[in-house]
Amino acid sequence: MKNVPITKKLVLSFFIVVVGSIIITSLMANHMIDRRFNNYLEGQLKARIEKLVSLVESAYDEKTGSVNLDKDKLNGYAEADGFYIKVQDSNEKVIYSSSKDYLVHKHMMNNMMGRQMMGKSSNLDSGSYVEEGHDLIKNNNKIGKITIGYLGSYNLTLQDIEFRKTLNEAFFHSVILSIIFGLIISLILSKQLTTPLIRINKVANEMKKGNFKIRSDVSTSTLEINELSQSMNYLAESLEKQEVLRKRLTSDMAHEIRTPLTILQNYIEGFMDGVWEPTVKRFESCYEEILRITKLVGKLQDIAKLEQANLSLSKSSFDLGHQIEKVVEVFKPLYAKKDLEIITDIDGDLNIFMDKDKVKQILYNLLSNAYRYSNDKGIVKIEAKKDSKDLVITVEDNGIGISKEELPYIFERFYRTDRSRNRETGGTGIGLTITKALVEAHGGRIEVESEVGTGTKFKIIFPKEAIEG
Ligand code: ADP
Repeated sequence: MKNVPITKKLVLSFFIVVVGSIIITSLMANHMIDRRFNNYLEGQLKARIEKLVSLVESAYDEKTGSVNLDKDKLNGYAEADGFYIKVQDSNEKVIYSSSKDYLVHKHMMNNMMGRQMMGKSSNLDSGSYVEEGHDLIKNNNKIGKITIGYLGSYNLTLQDIEFRKTLNEAFFHSVILSIIFGLIISLILSKQLTTPLIRINKVANEMKKGNFKIRSDVSTSTLEINELSQSMNYLAESLEKQEVLRKRLTSDMAHEIRTPLTILQNYIEGFMDGVWEPTVKRFESCYEEILRITKLVGKLQDIAKLEQANLSLSKSSFDLGHQIEKVVEVFKPLYAKKDLEIITDIDGDLNIFMDKDKVKQILYNLLSNAYRYSNDKGIVKIEAKKDSKDLVITVEDNGIGISKEELPYIFERFYRTDRSRNRETGGTGIGLTITKALVEAHGGRIEVESEVGTGTKFKIIFPKEAIEG
């Protein structure tokens, strides 16, 4: 499709709308006015004829029984109105007859002026010749007859034509003015729309080049453009974050793999150089490192599977409280190593319809993190509460905590906070990624609150619909 600049498109559309609406309005108005005008003209003609009839009637002399016509006056009427006038007395004897020349003259004048003043579109033509006969009545007696002939269904005077001309001129001027006005408005409007769009486009182009630090500072009163600008900034922010994560992911992954590989390398070099005796214990250490790499690759595969759309869940009905208690029992010996206390606060009757193994995995991940990142003699609290809307599971510890800067990244794969790295906790940075994927697969969400040195609280929220069959 052809790319047309928005300004051109807007101006063109405005132009079409303005011209179109003016044409429609003027056609409608012209039609309406035509009708009214015709009525007015007919009324005028009728009034002139009536005036003429009463004039002739008033010229009747009752004493002589005849009509004393002022022929000059009648000639004047015939000429001014373009009438043919014939007056007959009660015996049908013609007592006055105007010349038909006035009629022909008027006919020619009308045609000429009509064409000149109103253009071809005028429907005012002189029309065919019409003759009207009227009885002349005085004191209820018929005193004679008057015949008035004229051309057309109405008869135009010069003022009539002038009036039509003024009307058409007014329309013409309003068309010109509206076009100019419409063009100015459309130019202003299109400028208002295009300026921010051009700026947003610049931001998009910068982003295309890989500059994700750029932000759009557009501020306009157009809602959609503001939203577009905000979306653009959101996109830039997410891409910037993704970029940071991608870089971290590569270095974190390299770190995770490098550590066991370096250990293995050192052992094997030692064996080859004869520095170290290949004892069973040393082979066991090598084996542990290989297991670590295998575990890592296995977890990577797990994530890949989890992140596939439509993760298959085999749901069943079970009591969550009972499951939590079972998992806690499994963890107790481990927690005893650090002298950690586990407190549970679980609502009774937490019957849910979910994938039991996956729920167990979620609890395992959170409880092993709480163990890993807790100090000796710490407290870990597990809560499960259900209200009319949600089921909320929380796992809270009073361990080392996570800094504000690192908090947004902990659910990313391979992400490990600096503190956890320093402590050599044996984590891989994948546990929370899997936990999040499992929670979301069930239609829930996971939130975290943490403070360095105070502890961490993970909150899992499953809406009512997610836990019911
Ligand atoms: P890991 O295998 O390293 O524990 P996770 O994905 O489970 O990976 O967690 C990511 C990071 O989040 C951890 O490296 C750790 O820094 C931090 N983290 C997770 N849980 C806790 C917690 N309960 N207390 C403090 N830090 C935590």
